[in-house]
Amino acid sequence: MQPVVLTRDQHGISRRQISENALKVLYRLNKGGYEAYLVGGGVRDLLLGRQPKDFDVATNATPEQIKGLFSNCRLVGRRFRLAHVLFGRDVIEVATFRGHHHSVNNSKHLSSQSKEGMLLRDNVYGTIEEDAERRDFTVNALYYNIADFTVHGFAGGLKDLEARRLELIGDPETRYREDPVRMLRAVRFSAKLGLSISPRTEAPIKELAPLLADIPPARLFEETLKLLLAGQGVETYRQLQHYGLFAPLFPEAAEVMGRGNNRYGRFIELALANTDDRIAQDLRVTPAFLYAALLWGPVETRTQEFVNEGGLGYHDAFMLAADEVIGRQVKSVAIPRRFSTVVRDIWQLQDRLTKRAGKRPFRLLEHPKFRAGYDFLLLRAELDPRLKELAEWWTEFQQANPVDRQQLSRNNQRDNDERGERKPRKRPRRRPRRRKES
Ligand code: ATP
Ligand code: MG
Repeated sequence: MQPVVLTRDQHGISRRQISENALKVLYRLNKGGYEAYLVGGGVRDLLLGRQPKDFDVATNATPEQIKGLFSNCRLVGRRFRLAHVLFGRDVIEVATFRGHHHSVNNSKHLSSQSKEGMLLRDNVYGTIEEDAERRDFTVNALYYNIADFTVHGFAGGLKDLEARRLELIGDPETRYREDPVRMLRAVRFSAKLGLSISPRTEAPIKELAPLLADIPPARLFEETLKLLLAGQGVETYRQLQHYGLFAPLFPEAAEVMGRGNNRYGRFIELALANTDDRIAQDLRVTPAFLYAALLWGPVETRTQEFVNEGGLGYHDAFMLAADEVIGRQVKSVAIPRRFSTVVRDIWQLQDRLTKRAGKRPFRLLEHPKFRAGYDFLLLRAELDPRLKELAEWWTEFQQANPVDRQQLSRNNQRDNDERGERKPRKRPRRRPRRRKES
């Protein structure tokens, strides 16, 4: 594990590219007599000429020693204990060099492993060489030393970065078993940074993909956001499918697609393309919209089944289906309640948007999630020509001034009459039923 060292004039990283807060942390550690490095993605991205998402710091100071240096510091994590130095909303993560598990008298308190080889605790401290070896990919085993501005690349990381190659450090199968999330990280870095996964690094993925079922659903939720809401959603999704990683994350969606219904796969790609576009334009994206799309196949399919086989009305069938689909999904990937309620809203609006007569469309415009529901309808209409007219009507209705809106809604009333539908005004108004979330 001898590093390749690039001196200050042999690499393009300048301190101006590093956030002020990260620099503060690095300098303070260094002044305190500790080694301090910028590490991992921050160095990798700067060498690739990209703006890093965040800056992580590695040091030989222990978490307690770090806490001693910073008043704005919190120690976090049990599985992997580290220090967070807080600057308002900006958090700099400071990790103590990790060591080998077998090199100390293995106390359960510090390190432990499951029967399947999964690392449950990783709190044995070590040297920078050992730390580098415990990182996932060679291109992530890069360290920028604040003491002399050198870059240290371990395990061939600098060479791999130059070759745009993603290479796991050590034996791939062992490393994936230690932490199956590394399979998702492989796909993420490959798609995001345009790196190709080396043959030995990709070989075990398909077979080991089911190990993701052992990962806490809350951690997987965070990972899915990084995978699908980072601007390269379409490419990432295709790779997830290619490596068999989509099904363990979204079993229900994979199942309806497996029945030969590729329509839903195309719909997911469309939603992701839309998300990628929005991110490229710096527009806001919400996980709820994406999750609504990911699970639209299952919820539509189940609703239809409850109608056909259970003899339920559409509304009840839909409610049951939504409960069931979300209930099953959260066992793999935990969607926080604040998002799952919006997912339901978006779905529920799909039916409500078909009702255009009388005052209904005016009321619907006031719905807090109207915009998301309407965007979702537009997306569906791209695949289903039968929805085109409806989608266009809503576009026109929103853009119209109040007088034209009345006209549009009256026109629609006539359409309904001509089609022999009941006049909605004579229909007894149903109170919207409130669901209780259990
Ligand atoms: P980005 O921040 O762009 O998502 P990153 O590489 O910085 O990418 P982080 O999750 O911020 O990823 O982690 C920082 C560093 O910690 C990584 O570069 C890697 O060296 C190490 N690391 C993170 N997760 C793991 C893991 N599961 N196994 C081994 N090392 C990891
Ligand atoms: Mg990072």
